Amino acid sequence: MDANADTYLGTAVGPAPAAFRLTEDQVALRDAVRDLARAKVAPRAAEIDRTAEFPEDLRRLLAAQDILALPFPAAYGGIDADLLTLCLAIEELSAACATTGLILAVHALAALPIIDAGTPEQRARWLPDLAAGRTLIAFGLTEAGAGSDVAAMTTRAVRDGDGYVLDGSKRFISQGSVADLVVVFAVTDPAAGKARRHISAFVVERTSPGFSVGRLEHKMGIRGSPTTELHFDGVRVPVDHLLGAEGDGFTIAMRTFRRSRPGIAAQAVGIAQGALELATQYARDRVQFGRPIGQMQMVQALLADVDAATAAARALLYVACAAIDAGDGDPDRWASLCKLVAGDAAMKVTTDAVQVLGGSGYLEDFPVERMMRDAKITQLYEGTQQIQRLIVARSILDARG
Ligand SMILES: Cc1cc2nc3c(=O)[nH]c(=O)nc-3n(C[C@H](O)[C@H](O)[C@H](O)COP(=O)(O)OP(=O)(O)OC[C@H]3O[C@@H](n4cnc5c(N)ncnc54)[C@H](O)[C@@H]3O)c2cc1C
Repeated sequence: MDANADTYLGTAVGPAPAAFRLTEDQVALRDAVRDLARAKVAPRAAEIDRTAEFPEDLRRLLAAQDILALPFPAAYGGIDADLLTLCLAIEELSAACATTGLILAVHALAALPIIDAGTPEQRARWLPDLAAGRTLIAFGLTEAGAGSDVAAMTTRAVRDGDGYVLDGSKRFISQGSVADLVVVFAVTDPAAGKARRHISAFVVERTSPGFSVGRLEHKMGIRGSPTTELHFDGVRVPVDHLLGAEGDGFTIAMRTFRRSRPGIAAQAVGIAQGALELATQYARDRVQFGRPIGQMQMVQALLADVDAATAAARALLYVACAAIDAGDGDPDRWASLCKLVAGDAAMKVTTDAVQVLGGSGYLEDFPVERMMRDAKITQLYEGTQQIQRLIVARSILDARG
């Protein structure tokens, strides 16, 4: 053990990333999405939550405003946004409505395997419609028996002539009932499980015979985002629907999470920001004991903690995005760090915001109870907080100076 603290600082995590400021383009995009979200998305949020219906109108709005095009390469009609720009858009949408922020986050998540591992022909076939928002895509990894332990999946894809035949079921698939395409992970070689080479990734079109949407889950939050089972009963896909090589599926999924987990962190920061603004306004307006509650020190402490947690999570998210794009350090660690910190911040901030509003915070009349319910999912999906901790710990323990 080396007693020199400097050695420890340099060894485990690498040098701190260079300080950065948002570029003029990033600020302009953030402000434009913020204006749109406040004018058109926020007024719909309570109804989306109450009815638990997918907001098709807002999906069309995001497509018309080219917001769904952000993660796609320019060559396929996209905006080619860097990771931070994409996250700024998810954050602003989520501050108004977490379900709407998730439309963009899931679209980006599920398209990543095609952008990352697709051939030029596969990209040309699917990306232009996705970038234009004419089609939506879902990410089919989780199964009833394979959640955190994704390698335990049992959905099979068996080679048959010029294609593969898929059998099995996926669970908890966001936008499963509204997506035109699903990236499906399935076992192609059970014997290669030890080396994590047993899984392959396929693009399945919803019109494929044998494909069906199962149970729609009833959820605590993000209620307008349809979370469904998907069933594959002898679904035949041509061989050119395989992404990468046979056996690449596990690696493709893990590489995807490097760029998608910051999107969930952005959703969490957005939710926290929404709650912070509401709690602050309420503390200015609500009078008890003859003065606004914002003048009471214990309420001030709550608000200060809420502001601190939100600002800290946002700062880490932006640094993580910049570091991942720059190839600075371990991208898995950055992605897990920002999701871990932002998810926990959103849960704490929204719970404290409900406290600031007192009994009113518990009512549907104010959006903070919705935000508290929405915040919880950011600690669960795309890997639970426990899994993020495992990834961070593994990264720093494995790091060599
Ligand atoms: C609303 C919603 C939307 C979703 N969207 C998608 C989607 O679009 N696509 C998709 O593929 N999946 C999706 N998921 C699935 C999601 O990613 C999983 O729910 C998540 O990864 C956890 O898996 P699990 O629910 O099976 O929990 P489990 O893995 O059963 O975990 C249960 C508990 O055990 C803990 N645990 C498990 N293993 C360990 C370990 N090794 N060490 C410490 N603790 C551990 C977990 O942290 C958790 O607290 C979605 C889930 C929800 C709820």
